[in-house]
Amino acid sequence: SSVVHIVGGGLAGSEAAYQLAKRNIKVVLHEMRPIKMTPVHKTGLLAELVCSNSLKSDDIENASGLLKRELELLGSMLIKVARQTAVPAGKALAVDREKFSQLVTQEVLNAGVEIVREEICEIPDDKNIWIIATGPATSEALALWLEKVVGDHLYFFDAVAPIVSADSIDYSKVFFADRYGVGTNDHINCPMNKEEYERFYEALVNAEVQPMEGFDTSLLFERCKPIEEIARTGKEALLFGPLRPVGIIDPRTGKQPYAVVQLRKDNMEGTLYNLVGFQTRLKWGEQKKVIRMIPGLENAEIVRYGVMHRNLYIDSPRVLNQFLQLKKDGRIFFAGQITGVEGYVESIATGLYVSLNVFRLMNGMEMVQLPRDTLIGSLINYVTQSKLGRLQPMYANYGLLNLSKRDRKEIAKLCLESLETFLNTVNWV
Ligand code: FAD
Repeated sequence: SSVVHIVGGGLAGSEAAYQLAKRNIKVVLHEMRPIKMTPVHKTGLLAELVCSNSLKSDDIENASGLLKRELELLGSMLIKVARQTAVPAGKALAVDREKFSQLVTQEVLNAGVEIVREEICEIPDDKNIWIIATGPATSEALALWLEKVVGDHLYFFDAVAPIVSADSIDYSKVFFADRYGVGTNDHINCPMNKEEYERFYEALVNAEVQPMEGFDTSLLFERCKPIEEIARTGKEALLFGPLRPVGIIDPRTGKQPYAVVQLRKDNMEGTLYNLVGFQTRLKWGEQKKVIRMIPGLENAEIVRYGVMHRNLYIDSPRVLNQFLQLKKDGRIFFAGQITGVEGYVESIATGLYVSLNVFRLMNGMEMVQLPRDTLIGSLINYVTQSKLGRLQPMYANYGLLNLSKRDRKEIAKLCLESLETFLNTVNWV
């Protein structure tokens, strides 16, 4: 077939629609707003920024800055428009949100995309390619259809535990071991004595939480209880929950510590570790304070904070291949936050990546992966290849690149060079 259907004219969908239409592919973009609104959008414009008007840092030493630079090399329309509509914001790229969305809408129309204002409730069994880019606030009806297609690989909430960078852990205070010695010493264990535990406990139960609006908290807590909520049920609760020491022997003492915080590898390379069972909705400043009370984590660099909010996304490693294509139905691709990336710029990146491959597919060329030593390549790799349990939404960070020891400017240069080399091999920009 010669038509590509895109569901959702948000950040990912707008980028993908523009890129394909600009290359003479017929694109129909189905966007339900303003006929049907989501709980987070306020206008009928494409690429509406639902919260902050900042696309984060523009500094190359910040991962988001590098991500933007990579997207510019790939010819991103949304980043170009962001620059055209920028407002002064120090090192960040912030935009006039109204102008930004208006100009994106205009660019998409000018490229020749047909925009149909309707809610898509299921993907028809036709011969066309469909890109699902319906975001964290995917409509109820489509979510139900998705649940049928991907089974229990669909998540409605984020319950995210914090992640720290491996090279910021003080290894003199921790030890590698698995509970009951089962495994290959995969976990890092941060042992606490009684006194340390009590101090940590007091800080945790007294820390301030992030208020959550419009949530069915009862449902949320049943699925996945935040650590501070568990702690509130009693002083000992954590010792039988996330901090239970049973079966963990400190090789230096030969004894079981009073309490243990376990860290688990969060990527295959082992440059990132998550705090097991630490899903939380503490305010970020409070998280930092509490986490840094854990022995070995006094100087931990927190590369992502724990959050809890409504966020529909699929368990991409189980249901998608590395091209963000549904394994069991190759007509269907996913882009944007629904794939398990998080953030405006990250969503734009997946939209662009999918359009590159859909373009190739429609022109009889083999699909391509982006180099692993680019930030976009490593982000896509993370969300599609992560084999370590349940996928947790991920934003761009330097830890995703397996190069954490080097100077960031140097890493950025290598990434951009790698992307340029790649672009010389594909007929894209
Ligand atoms: P969206 O931009 O949400 O686009 C999806 C589109 O699909 C929408 O236009 C929607 O109307 C449409 N749609 C949904 N269902 C259907 C259907 N069945 N048929 C047709 N159309 C449909 N990221 C940041 O970087 N900074 C932030 O400050 C930030 N704040 C956020 C605040 C909230 C409350 C949420 C939920 C997320 C936030 N994010 C933020 C995360 C994320 O980057 C954004 O949600 C981003 O907009 C995701 O891009 P997207 O293209 O995947 O989805």
